[in-house]
Amino acid sequence: MKKDERLRGYYDEELETLSWKEKRRLLEQRLQRTLALAFERAPAMREKLEAAGVGPTDIRSLEDLQSLSITPKSKMRQLQQSSPPFGGFLGVGLDQLRRIYSSPGVIFDPEGLQADYWRLQGVFFNTGFRPGDRVLNTFSYHLTPGGLMCDEALAGIGCTVVPGGIGNTETQVQLLAELKLTGFVGVPSFLQTIIERAEQDGRDFRREFHLEIAVTAGEMLSDSSRRSLEEDYGILVRQFLATADVGGIAYECAEKNGMHFVDYRIVEVVNPETGMQLGPGQIGEVVVTLLENPVYPLIRFGTGDLSYYEEAPCPCGRTSPRLMKLVGRVDQVTKVRGMFIHPSQVEEVAAAFPEIQSAQAVVEREEERDRLSFRAVLAKGSSPEGLALSLQEKIRSVLKLRAGVEFVGEEDIQAPEKRILDLRKWE
Ligand SMILES: [Zn+2]
Repeated sequence: MKKDERLRGYYDEELETLSWKEKRRLLEQRLQRTLALAFERAPAMREKLEAAGVGPTDIRSLEDLQSLSITPKSKMRQLQQSSPPFGGFLGVGLDQLRRIYSSPGVIFDPEGLQADYWRLQGVFFNTGFRPGDRVLNTFSYHLTPGGLMCDEALAGIGCTVVPGGIGNTETQVQLLAELKLTGFVGVPSFLQTIIERAEQDGRDFRREFHLEIAVTAGEMLSDSSRRSLEEDYGILVRQFLATADVGGIAYECAEKNGMHFVDYRIVEVVNPETGMQLGPGQIGEVVVTLLENPVYPLIRFGTGDLSYYEEAPCPCGRTSPRLMKLVGRVDQVTKVRGMFIHPSQVEEVAAAFPEIQSAQAVVEREEERDRLSFRAVLAKGSSPEGLALSLQEKIRSVLKLRAGVEFVGEEDIQAPEKRILDLRKWE
């Protein structure tokens, strides 16, 4: 299939291109129906509303959601154990479930009987799969929902699925080659492993295989590995965000400039400490509300993923905002001058400069203010000349904060295993 055909078209043109103003109104109407349903059927949700002192009709706008607390993924285990099996979040009887999964950390995830329950059909169409694709699905098919949720969505849009599951690299290489598979779904590093194995066996991956498209999730896709897959192997690479709790959250369109929020959920990026919504470009926790899902009416579920969004119009014509890069997990952040910074951002800055061997961000407290400095160890033979300025610029663009830059010797880095060293003392 020609690449342009994969990059054209919409799964649901009317909904995807509805003006943001109209879409917002639609989301708010659905939110009100969701709240009524959750209040009536899910005791844990009723308690959440009552704790906030509001009734289901008091929340009318997306902003109003901020009066409700976040239910963090990290608390799900505890909540489910205290009110088994689903923590009071289930809105239907157990006999109304198609499957029950168990995710790591032992969190139970229900799947309802509705078609496209996880809302991934649109995600797979819009990332470029088309009817007739033969897809190797390498997400796990047991206990966790990853494998089956992708499988059914791909089949739902007319693809043929090969349930590869995880591991068995040799077999996966064979399947790809002998069945002339055109698509791959899985974590990006596993695709790399498969290609490497094929090449170790003396095969020419680009010429002997037929892989045209890979859609990845579950791991960060680095710019360099995407470039290599696209340029060296001619594979169209797109990514999406989904979790075992809520299913599809966001996906990349043809433009590859961030992941559009799916239109069937409310996606917020919030300050993880206060739960307040953040504006474009500000890093915070991705929080999801499942709309009109009678099975699992989760309202303000904290995924633990950190990201930021942009709402500038996308040339693809879709109107939903886009989640930009996934920055890391909430439990690894350090707050500096009101902004959250993550170890992966420090690595990203350092990786942009071949002159830098390693780096550490140091946070101190001086005169009631946070002071951030970036300590870099130069690679052998590199000169710091002219580097400080471009480094400071990079830090501003990645961390969204200003920092002083110091070039130091390896021996001057305290706790070198830490990318962020917090020396603040709070008395
Ligand atoms: Zn787009």
